[in-house]
Amino acid sequence: MKPRPMPFAADFPPHIRALKPYVPGLPIEDLARRLDMSAERIAKLASNENPLGPSPLAVQALAQAAPELARYPDNDCTLLARALSAALAVPADWVVAGAGSESVLGMAAAALLAPGRKTVYAQYSFQAFVNAAQRVGAAPVVVPAPAYAVDLAALRAHITDDVALAYLANPGNPTGTRVQAGELEAFLADVPPHVVVVLDEAYREYLPQAVAGDAIAWVRRFPNLIVTRTFSKAYGLAGLRIGYGVAQPALADMLRRVRAPFSVTQAAQVAAAAALADHAFLARTVAVNDAGRAQLSAGFARLGLRYLPSSANFVLVQVGDGADMGRRLERHGLIVRPVGAYGLPGWLRVSVGTAEENARLLAGLAAELAMAA
Ligand code: PMP
Repeated sequence: MKPRPMPFAADFPPHIRALKPYVPGLPIEDLARRLDMSAERIAKLASNENPLGPSPLAVQALAQAAPELARYPDNDCTLLARALSAALAVPADWVVAGAGSESVLGMAAAALLAPGRKTVYAQYSFQAFVNAAQRVGAAPVVVPAPAYAVDLAALRAHITDDVALAYLANPGNPTGTRVQAGELEAFLADVPPHVVVVLDEAYREYLPQAVAGDAIAWVRRFPNLIVTRTFSKAYGLAGLRIGYGVAQPALADMLRRVRAPFSVTQAAQVAAAAALADHAFLARTVAVNDAGRAQLSAGFARLGLRYLPSSANFVLVQVGDGADMGRRLERHGLIVRPVGAYGLPGWLRVSVGTAEENARLLAGLAAELAMAA
């Protein structure tokens, strides 16, 4: 007799069942196969990646590290922490590396949240904020952002005694908008000391220093602040999964305790340390982004489309039906990001590409708008 299959009856707690799957940008290969087009002809402007590729110094370091792949990585990420310590002028034990800065956002939630505790963040914030909170059964408090930018006064007003963690991205994703450095510093000074603030600076390299403010100086001043940064964007290492948090030692120590052992690969550590020293690549990245962002913004304006002035490496543009326009653009070999999941069904998020990619995107958009008119 054939054994009867056992029914799947795992008892997931309600907050786990409520988790939504993450929807990433469409992979280039998927669209290439569907269109029977070579992958080189597809422009992916959907995941805020670096259109210049990775830092060449990082690639070199990665090749040199390859013979060590049989070994587990350095769990303490010593070399990278030292490199960041020197670059940021903080002690090495203030640095917590993670498998992408998203994992550091998760460490903050794992260390501070629990059922019955709350986290606050602005409407239209990065999806990882809610996921990190939901994974540990905490309740998110979403603060309205009618102007598509974080309203710091409203954020402060929503911080009550049961809030343990506040997330804030500057600039924000998917909006691309930023807050004023002076206002941000005043907010940090005003937050009650029991509340930990995560200031997510994934896109900080695209902001002029004077406008961004000195977040590391704020970490020195505020023991309840974690600043997170990444090598995924301006350093071009999204595929390696490497980012970090900076916090004073008591907080940094708790983050390290909840980090999964060996989750940051040696390859990522070595490549990130090399990328950090690649000042020329960073400067080129920022210059290409400045020009491309201006190109896209001017193009959207010419097409009569509303867009949000961006301080990041993408622009949010209002197109009517974002999902539909996203599908139409795919036929042109263009991948962009509909943002209905963020409560912005009328908009598309377009990553800044090379000048040629941006021009193709604008041409594709113009053609589709003309067809719809
Ligand atoms: N924060 C923000 C605002 C982001 O947009 C992203 C990437 N989409 C991240 C953090 C995480 O990036 P990573 O995990 O690659 O460092």
